[in-house]
Amino acid sequence: MRPSSTRCSPCGRRLAISARVHKRPTASHSAQSLEQSRLQLVPGGGVNGRRPRVIIVGAGFAGLTVAKRLAKAPVDITLIDRENHHLFQPLLYQVATAGLSPADIAWPIRGLVRHQRNTSVLLGAVTGVDRVRKRVIMRDRNIAYDVLVLATAATHGYFGNDSWAAHAPGLKAIDDATEIRRRLLLAFERAEMESDARERERLLTIVIVGGGPTGVEMAGAVVELARKALAADFRAIDPQQTRVLLVEAGPRLLPSFPEPLSCHAEQALRRLGVEVRLKQEVTRCVATGVTLGDENVCAGTVIWAAGVAASPAADWLAVAGDRCGRVLVGPDLRPPGMDHVFVIGDTALAHDVAGKPLPAIAPVAKQQGAYVAAVIQARLTGKAEPAPFRYRDRGLLATVGRKTAVIAFGRLRMKGWLAWWIWGIAHIYFLISLRNRLIVMTQWLWSCVSFERGARLITGLRAIREPDRLGRRDDDDAPPPPLPHPIPTPA
Ligand SMILES: Cc1cc2nc3c(=O)[nH]c(=O)nc-3n(C[C@H](O)[C@H](O)[C@H](O)COP(=O)(O)OP(=O)(O)OC[C@H]3O[C@@H](n4cnc5c(N)ncnc54)[C@H](O)[C@@H]3O)c2cc1C
Repeated sequence: MRPSSTRCSPCGRRLAISARVHKRPTASHSAQSLEQSRLQLVPGGGVNGRRPRVIIVGAGFAGLTVAKRLAKAPVDITLIDRENHHLFQPLLYQVATAGLSPADIAWPIRGLVRHQRNTSVLLGAVTGVDRVRKRVIMRDRNIAYDVLVLATAATHGYFGNDSWAAHAPGLKAIDDATEIRRRLLLAFERAEMESDARERERLLTIVIVGGGPTGVEMAGAVVELARKALAADFRAIDPQQTRVLLVEAGPRLLPSFPEPLSCHAEQALRRLGVEVRLKQEVTRCVATGVTLGDENVCAGTVIWAAGVAASPAADWLAVAGDRCGRVLVGPDLRPPGMDHVFVIGDTALAHDVAGKPLPAIAPVAKQQGAYVAAVIQARLTGKAEPAPFRYRDRGLLATVGRKTAVIAFGRLRMKGWLAWWIWGIAHIYFLISLRNRLIVMTQWLWSCVSFERGARLITGLRAIREPDRLGRRDDDDAPPPPLPHPIPTPA
């Protein structure tokens, strides 16, 4: 298996999340006008005498942008998400390494669209789409749409080895981050009480699989957690002896960045004490560690940052996905032949003008969301639709620990502490609320001077100790029960 970040993994980190849509009449507009009439959205916003129903599945960067941009449009929007919060994934690794709390980087979706009178929010997972009857299928209901926007992103991919997921959690949602935090902190607690030296060594070994931005950022944060934040807190073990391995199947870290920046990131990680293993593939992953080629590495914690698999949107639409399951869309962000369905964000496989696949990053998702909203607006008002979607590159950023970062923006290359400050300011700027910006800024400043990690909570222990009392077990990942208040299916 190649746990390489080049295989269906986020290509890089771009943060300047601007979402301008440029209008440019093109020859394809006449074809689009035909589709527009097929969509039956007439100027003034009616479909057979009522307001068009827009269903957006996924309130991440892409879906939320669509909803926000249509705040004043004469449409009825239903925003469906299986979580009740919108998440700023770029800082998720800091929750996993106890630097930030979940609420610092997540916001209730209802609160975000509170003032949008045309928008309802549903908490629940979509399980399919009935394209013939134009309905979105959920477990306990189905809901009719006139326009459907699928923005359900991706999940972890284990290159066909799904059994590895239990031993090597990936990082995608708040629950993943708190699970990784739990495993990391518990490993130190267990090591403190362990009398067997080999087992103690195993518990103090952490393997991170995947040398893309998530793996690099995780490795820097994990080694700092162990060697700085926890250094003085234990008596029987020395957390400074913690071994952190970053494993990448490709020849270099951060493959989407220019090579000199990859080298800088690698050197910076090595200086922090991370063992960087390049050109090494994980061939086996079990509860006690991983196998890299011929070498068994015993580890207390394994973190998966290597592969990504798209949501099952391709199955729902009965179209062929690419090898990661992403839905191929045209420059209008619709799958071929589907007039009423847009697929955007990490779920979609879209290309730039040169035919290169667009990376799975936040600015792409946000710009695509803005584009789809502009298309829907244009159809409502009968104006010319925007020109085909074109991604405006906003540069690549990744941080290595708290002292250095790398930035590639056009021909500009930056590394070192100035890049780190730009990285930090950009991340704070793109957090949603002032409250969160202030909290994150204060936490970072405090941890810069004190090296403390404020969110070192091990949650979920009660579920291990008292499974019966809580009616669940630690490994119980059964789907939640249906929501108690069924919402009537619109006619
Ligand atoms: C750890 C990590 C770090 C990252 N760091 C960066 C970074 O620094 N810079 C950057 O630009 N990009 C970064 N990315 C990538 C970026 O976060 C994604 O490209 C972006 O979130 C994609 O937006 P999206 O709207 O497609 O998906 P998401 O933001 O993931 O949103 C998808 C939404 O769909 C919901 N959903 C999924 N399935 C269903 C279903 N069946 N029914 C209902 N709802 C569903 C999910 O709950 C979620 O809310 C990072 C990603 C990760 C995982």
